Amino acid sequence: MTTSAERDAILAAVDAAFDEQLDFTAALIAIPSLRGEENDGQDFMEQAFREVGLDIDRWTLDPAELATHPGAGAVAVSYENTDVVVGTLEPAAAVGAAVGRSLILNGHVDVVPLGSPRLWSRSPWEPAIEDGWMYGRGSGDMKAGLAANVFALRALQRAGLTPRGRIHLQSVPEEESTGNGTLSALQHGYTADAVLITEPSSNAVVRAHTGVIWFRVVVTGRAAHASEMSVGANAIDGAYAVIAELRRMEADWNTRVPESAHFAEQPHPLNLNIGTIRAGDWPSSVPDACELGIRVALLPEMDVEECWEEIVERVQRAVQVDPALAGATALTEKLGFFSDGYVLEPGSDAEAVLAAAHEQATGSALGEVAMPGYIDSRCYGLFAGVPALVYGPLGERLHGADERVNIESVRHVTKAVALFIAEWCGVEAAPATGQSDNLD
Ligand SMILES: [Zn+2]
Repeated sequence: MTTSAERDAILAAVDAAFDEQLDFTAALIAIPSLRGEENDGQDFMEQAFREVGLDIDRWTLDPAELATHPGAGAVAVSYENTDVVVGTLEPAAAVGAAVGRSLILNGHVDVVPLGSPRLWSRSPWEPAIEDGWMYGRGSGDMKAGLAANVFALRALQRAGLTPRGRIHLQSVPEEESTGNGTLSALQHGYTADAVLITEPSSNAVVRAHTGVIWFRVVVTGRAAHASEMSVGANAIDGAYAVIAELRRMEADWNTRVPESAHFAEQPHPLNLNIGTIRAGDWPSSVPDACELGIRVALLPEMDVEECWEEIVERVQRAVQVDPALAGATALTEKLGFFSDGYVLEPGSDAEAVLAAAHEQATGSALGEVAMPGYIDSRCYGLFAGVPALVYGPLGERLHGADERVNIESVRHVTKAVALFIAEWCGVEAAPATGQSDNLD
């Protein structure tokens, strides 16, 4: 058990370094770590991990290695500039004393594209603080959390303490598209007694998240002059038929929500999103190809393989029913997330320790939420049997214009994570020659 003096010292250390933490967070947001361009962000995180005394392991994602894992997402992008960075702090060789529980603190460095830059009130890469919020792409999702992981560990060090269990800090790519970054860390042998991911969760613990599938549909029709349209097959019309059928599937899936254990309160947690569409090259030509990029969510009670079979079958059917589409075909391909949902089973020690840490940091009880989207917690929860906690700050307009994160919620999360490390791993006084940076 951490003593109240230790806890007070840790909380004070978070406050003392908080301005520095905000500067660090802003500098991280200023790096546009979009998909396929994550490595400038990873250089920054590697340096930060080194500065807190972690041993660095860094590797480039390998599609062939990932393909051997059932939870991996198919990719059509280059991984040349997409590394995973893991920093490890071994316990201070506790002489004769039992070593504490181990922990992974995880966060993703990748951010989603901007949408229309003109719809932002300020540059998404020049973070600014206004009225208690920090703005910028990736501010909430999830660079504030990634920074909080580092500063939580630093707070222990500033308080003159060192964890008694092994800690891995993970900065991963590909969370927004496949989950392959965290899966790769698991494939590389990184595991622990608990995992904590500081995704934006409004300072609540995530009880469950949905599974997600990304896929591509390519409708192939037949080109013709618009004046003799009936001899062609319009691939855009075919795509409309596919979308209509998939909307029926979405409605069917959502009828199962009232029976679900963790999503019954939500009106429509299973969203099917038509995210991209590409087709046509001439207003007077019948288009012969249309490509759709689609994302759909599934309940934790549903099985990703069964859902996939249903998608493929419905897409096929959609282009076969309309005589105007005769001869058109549809190809359905996995491309990105292929993930079951995950439920954090209540009653774990890890959750109890988090609840106590949250209460000590904020003075209020820990709430819980169910997230109707993908989170990397499933990598450790489903494939390593490790309780995977998701607990992070309050973010708003995630994936939208003027994304932002609430500053005080970041402070609370940093304090709670620091107390969580101390209680979960145990702490002891840092050796005099250790990493403590009390002097600054
Ligand atoms: Zn995220």
